Amino acid sequence: MVTRLRIAVQSKGRLAEGGMDLLKNCGLRFAYGRDKLHQSAENMPVDLMLVRDDDIPNFVASGACDYGIVGENVFREEQLGSRRGKELEIALRLGFSKCTLKLAAPKGGAITSVADLDGKAVATSYPAITADYLERNGVKAEIVEMHGSVEVAPRLNIADAICDLVSSGATLEANGLAAFETVLVSEAVLVRRKESRSGEADAIAEILMRRAQGVIASAQTKYIMLNAPTDRLDAIKALLPGSDAPTVAQIAGRDDVVALHAVCRERVFWETLEALEAEGARAILVLPIEKMLA
Ligand code: ATP
Ligand code: ZN
Repeated sequence: MVTRLRIAVQSKGRLAEGGMDLLKNCGLRFAYGRDKLHQSAENMPVDLMLVRDDDIPNFVASGACDYGIVGENVFREEQLGSRRGKELEIALRLGFSKCTLKLAAPKGGAITSVADLDGKAVATSYPAITADYLERNGVKAEIVEMHGSVEVAPRLNIADAICDLVSSGATLEANGLAAFETVLVSEAVLVRRKESRSGEADAIAEILMRRAQGVIASAQTKYIMLNAPTDRLDAIKALLPGSDAPTVAQIAGRDDVVALHAVCRERVFWETLEALEAEGARAILVLPIEKMLA
């Protein structure tokens, strides 16, 4: 019997589409609408199991699947909080479903730093990550575990602060909370067991991972547009490594500001985003590139 690589993927949710898109962009073809739990690739020895994201670490640790696509936040929580999670490792970072786990507290309140959490209660769906972070910062706080709507905890006096996933910050804002600390920067990751994997499955996975790296690299190339104060132009250009000479264009009626367009890798851009802003860059737009003839 031919060995087939078994990959656990979220069935629906914020990882599902990105995961399926990545696999399809790696050349896998799936027949639609056969089975809710299983999908077999037609053109490669690869089977998918479609499950809830929280179950993915267990599927992989137990050997039911060889690899899994899961949020780094979920992986980290399992790794810190469960024995089985410690048997897993990251095989490849996948560059989508990016989000941040942040500590936040009521705006204008007494808590504005990690140290202020000493003796307080923190509500979170990530108790192991939060406890680990607080411990590493020498803070003793009570962890209140919640499985949803963590952002309402301070208002209901269930906790003084929260540790929750943030992407745009709109949910925090709507609940009168302000983030004051980043605990984890997360993206989708491909995980596998550290030990006792099948060599045949690994060989198939190697092919897919090589393709995935190519797909991720091109997906992360972005077109960046921003307005730069004319006198900060050189400093701002210097913050855009990985870009060829950017285009600098006049803005009608302004001589203090110019428009700057550049092709840049997203990863580089995110690393330097705050720095760009600090140099005075405004109206920063990051656009996807569909096709490129470099
Ligand atoms: P499930 O029903 O499978 O348990 P869920 O509700 O726990 O799903 P989702 O909301 O689909 O999970 O999020 C899955 C993962 O996507 C998160 O664990 C995180 O890694 C990532 N994620 C969370 N929020 C965002 C976001 N706003 N943008 C992109 N990725 C996100
Ligand atoms: Zn979940």
